[in-house]
Amino acid sequence: MEQFTRRYFLKVFGGASAALFVLPQVGCSSKKEEKPNCNDTTGVDTTLRQQLKYVPKSQDPQKRCELCQFYTPMPNGCGSCQLFPGPVDPQGSCMSFAPKQPS
Ligand code: SF4
Repeated sequence: MEQFTRRYFLKVFGGASAALFVLPQVGCSSKKEEKPNCNDTTGVDTTLRQQLKYVPKSQDPQKRCELCQFYTPMPNGCGSCQLFPGPVDPQGSCMSFAPKQPS
């Protein structure tokens, strides 16, 4: 009979405390991996963005915003471009791509 033995308590409460420790961290990690919306241009003048044919996903892996000298990363995972207002996706690109100069 396993009821009220030391082994029983360790099995029940040990498992429960492990679950309490792991579950919140699983929830947090999936939230951190959520990609921010770098393409929300609500209230932003998109004229120049459109003229430069900005796309949120570059067709050329060597010409991504994050590799461009006009790109500035932001803490939320998106970035900004010096050529037009509003957020840009680090994986995006446009006609004015200019590779970063080695420092
Ligand atoms: S100039 Fe174009 S490629 Fe460079 S950061 Fe701005 S949008 Fe991205």
